[in-house]
Amino acid sequence: MREQVARTACLSIEGLTKRFGGFYALNELHMEVAQGHIHALIGPNGAGKTTFFNLVTGVLPADAGRIVFNGQVVADTRPSKRTIKGIARTFQNIRLFPHLTAMETVMIGSHCRAFPSVWKALGKAVLQRPLGEADEERQMRENAVELLEFLGLTDKQDAKASDLPYGEQRKLELARALATQPRLLLLDEPTAGMNPRETDELDDVITRVRDRGVTIILVEHDMRLVMGVSDSVTVINFGTKIAEGPPEKIQSDPLVVEAYLGEDVQL
Ligand code: ADP
Ligand code: MG
Repeated sequence: MREQVARTACLSIEGLTKRFGGFYALNELHMEVAQGHIHALIGPNGAGKTTFFNLVTGVLPADAGRIVFNGQVVADTRPSKRTIKGIARTFQNIRLFPHLTAMETVMIGSHCRAFPSVWKALGKAVLQRPLGEADEERQMRENAVELLEFLGLTDKQDAKASDLPYGEQRKLELARALATQPRLLLLDEPTAGMNPRETDELDDVITRVRDRGVTIILVEHDMRLVMGVSDSVTVINFGTKIAEGPPEKIQSDPLVVEAYLGEDVQL
């Protein structure tokens, strides 16, 4: 019999734990996210979803457990290092520099992949010009143009971020995250504050991002979006996993229904 070659998961979470004082925001969470999947992480308010993103991106240190990304344990806690490894996110509350234009905002995202400054300095000393800087700037601009087009923001490229309608600010945040060339993208409640039309469009946007080869973890309250777009769903409550599986199985899981009782969420 031929040996089965196991596909490396994009992300393996092993016993991840985070305490705030004596309170467990995450308690020995285990989770596997397959390459190329849209994997939803859902749960009532306060379940630990944003904390999970903060641990995976290195914003907060874990108290216990391991994060394995593309088969390698992620040990360096600096968020910038994790971005370079290929982990990007958007935020539950939009975080944009209000005075930058849409184009500048997306170009900032590319900076983490910029030519190392040591080579630029060497170029300056030897060639009297910063090595590769013009090429690099052009490349960053080309990437930004492509991403703005991808998200339907081409005609907004010179608009200030703060002047864009809410739904477009969310898309701009997404473009900035994609500019870091992630292999894993964490989306924290992307429909928050969006109108129904903008929410409807997001289904298509998320699918197209996945089709670019990006694995996605989606934290979201809009269950129509979650159930429509996800390949698999993990449900947590009080920092603990209570259910996992394909969307159609999760929707009717009694533990999930019970966890959401009293929440303004339609499963
Ligand atoms: P979710 O995103 O699922 O709504 P969070 O991860 O934001 O939940 O929060 C999980 C729990 O941890 C909540 O009870 C919240 O109050 C608590 N929590 C989150 N961040 C902190 C913090 N920095 N200090 C203390 N408690 C926190
Ligand atoms: Mg949250």
